[in-house]
Amino acid sequence: MIDLVIQGGTVVPMVTNGEYFSGDVLIDGGKILEIRRHQTDEIPARQTIDASEALVVPGFVQCHVHVVQSLLRHQADGLELLDWLQTRTWPYEAALDGDGVQAAAELGIAELLCGGTTTVMDFGTTHNHDRVFRVAEELGIRMISGKTHMDDGEGLPPALAEDRHDSVAEAADLGRRWHGAADGRLQYAVAPRFALSCTKGLLEDCVALARSNGWLLQTHASESIGEIEEVRRRFNRTNIDYLHSVGLTGSDVVLAHGVHLNDEEKQRLAKTGTRICHCPGANLKLASGIADVPGLLDLGISVGLGADGAPCNNRLSIFHEMALAGSLHTLRHGPTALDAWSILAMATREGARALHLEDTVGTLEPGKAADITVVGLDAWSLQPDGNPASRLVFGATAGDVRHVVVDGSPVVKDGIILTRSGHTIKEHAREAWHATRHRMET
Ligand SMILES: [Zn+2]
Repeated sequence: MIDLVIQGGTVVPMVTNGEYFSGDVLIDGGKILEIRRHQTDEIPARQTIDASEALVVPGFVQCHVHVVQSLLRHQADGLELLDWLQTRTWPYEAALDGDGVQAAAELGIAELLCGGTTTVMDFGTTHNHDRVFRVAEELGIRMISGKTHMDDGEGLPPALAEDRHDSVAEAADLGRRWHGAADGRLQYAVAPRFALSCTKGLLEDCVALARSNGWLLQTHASESIGEIEEVRRRFNRTNIDYLHSVGLTGSDVVLAHGVHLNDEEKQRLAKTGTRICHCPGANLKLASGIADVPGLLDLGISVGLGADGAPCNNRLSIFHEMALAGSLHTLRHGPTALDAWSILAMATREGARALHLEDTVGTLEPGKAADITVVGLDAWSLQPDGNPASRLVFGATAGDVRHVVVDGSPVVKDGIILTRSGHTIKEHAREAWHATRHRMET
């Protein structure tokens, strides 16, 4: 008797692009035990998930999200990056209290899980980051996350500007509490916001903290023209050159965006093994530009996908990001720029590799964690047939996700989150947003 079987679906293991077959996924002790290529009549299991008329894929991986921004969704349209930060997002984060952080994290994580995303690298706000980890632990997502660091820069609200040493000490405490928690499902990553909101000393301290503990680093880089021009004006060098000078390049660094990079900067990212998270939805909405993803991949750079934050997207759907990534790069590189299998790989296997989780998740293989998404094929846009990659990248939406399993435990069934009442999450989000907005206005 095994714990769980996902039976009768079209299995898309993503070990190699292009492979799929009818079969069953057998799960025990939180791990994938076996994948049977031929459907068998009965497999003795404590639980069975019916995956008929559905695709069974590795749980999706997003390499850059901000779940704490979820309450500001639909409240910050029509702005470019620096205005978006200074006039909406930072005042919002400054007004968030602990309950607001918790409500935002619940909303963001529920949306991610119900949309089939099982692993995220997440960027916190300045305060109350324990609440984010606690929600992640309870709702069941796999999360690498860290509080953000800011101690400098224009437009920064006093509530978010920290003393350099206190800020790093708080991250050290958070990392000690949460790195490896929930049987390794939670990890800490040090998260200085970006070059323009941190002193050089703070960036260096963040790098030292992460490397002395073996934690990953994440920051934003070269997202908008306004940002890279300001970096040039302030430090008299390119953004990547500056980040490299403080230690923020390397295989343990995930840079969100990488839209505006010159050839020298791309070469440096390739040489140092630095990861890039491509966020096409946010980059288009904030009028930032289009990252040259085919060019980055040609240099061997590891690239993942991410929705970024709810106020700059406004959804946290891997399907939206896959459709955009599969379409946008044709403008510069022609219709064969990136095929659907490469995009699907970026949302699974390659995303896991970008986060150093390739031994744990990203493919369906015996021995890996059972993080699995079952996508129903009932929708009109998925008719009448087609290869699974084309259907998932160009035809499916988050609403097509039927079941989600993390570490062998079902967390979403028939589109409903199991680990918390969805109704309660929405109610808390509304209440917390009203309270936060009131504080923003007074
Ligand atoms: Zn971001």
